[in-house]
Amino acid sequence: MILTITMNPSIDISYPLGKLVIDRVNRINNVSKTAGGKGLNVTRVLRQLNEPVKASGMLGGDFGQFVRKHLDEEGINHDFSQIRSETRNSIAILHEGNQTEILEGGPEIRENELNTFFETYKRLLKEVNLVTISGSLPKGVKKDYYSTLIEEADRQNTKTILDTSGETLAKSLQGNPKPYLIKPNEEEISQVLGHKINTSVDLKNALKSDLFDDIEWVVVSLGKDGALVKHKKTIYKIDIPSIEVINPVGSGDATLAGLTYGISNRRTPEEIMRVGMVTGMLNAMNQKTGHIDVQRFNELFTQISVNKINNE
Ligand code: ATP
Repeated sequence: MILTITMNPSIDISYPLGKLVIDRVNRINNVSKTAGGKGLNVTRVLRQLNEPVKASGMLGGDFGQFVRKHLDEEGINHDFSQIRSETRNSIAILHEGNQTEILEGGPEIRENELNTFFETYKRLLKEVNLVTISGSLPKGVKKDYYSTLIEEADRQNTKTILDTSGETLAKSLQGNPKPYLIKPNEEEISQVLGHKINTSVDLKNALKSDLFDDIEWVVVSLGKDGALVKHKKTIYKIDIPSIEVINPVGSGDATLAGLTYGISNRRTPEEIMRVGMVTGMLNAMNQKTGHIDVQRFNELFTQISVNKINNE
């Protein structure tokens, strides 16, 4: 089984408005409210791939109960640790082809709540063979906390797959042991290396940085341009077919789910990369974030090309 960790989940609220009028009342009828967070998108895609998966992290208050209820309704296996403060809301206003987001910072975590979560985490690790950790840390939790989770997983012989950004990513790369796989984007790579990346050559050179030496997989997804991947010492460029994009939000999470699925099922490195690309594309081809049409999996799988580019 796979364990997905979402430390700062949310209720994702979507307000589709024809036009957003500033400084006026904007009325809306078809509001959608769902259980949100990058790790929950990963969970949904893994479930659709028929992979046994359990979601954990921290939830609080009535809004936390709302998330639990929605996960139950979706049939998602979950075991979140309880906190006192309310889980946050993330609001997306869709207007005139734009997406304006209002994101709450979320609850402040107390030390005893973090300790309770850690006990849950240690218990859940005994049931699983892989852990994914996605997204930001809530307030009150130190930026190097993911290193603590990676270390405990390692102690229990479990590999960790990490998708985070900024200082949290930088601190996780300083820790020891390292995550097994990271999925930074170009901006995140340039942040951790402290210099700008302008060209594909810059990006390839960045992947050769000794910062990534002990990380088995570094996957930089590039939207419609596929991905640049470092696996052990080999760098690959993955090209994907052009597709009809409906909603690309969460494609990175879907890619992470595909990569995790491939690793969990001991597929070959080339197959792992292909699965990750297919799940990302299938998410982009679907209106609902974290939903994929598995019927189209094989058709896309065969259209992906994976090429070694080390010596170019
Ligand atoms: P997000 O933060 O929205 O989850 P991301 O930047 O982490 O996204 P992307 O690189 O945009 O991730 O997308 C991940 C994968 O999904 C890509 O490698 C590709 O396989 C697929 N994908 C995303 N957008 C497109 C697109 N416009 N056309 C084709 N495939 C796409």
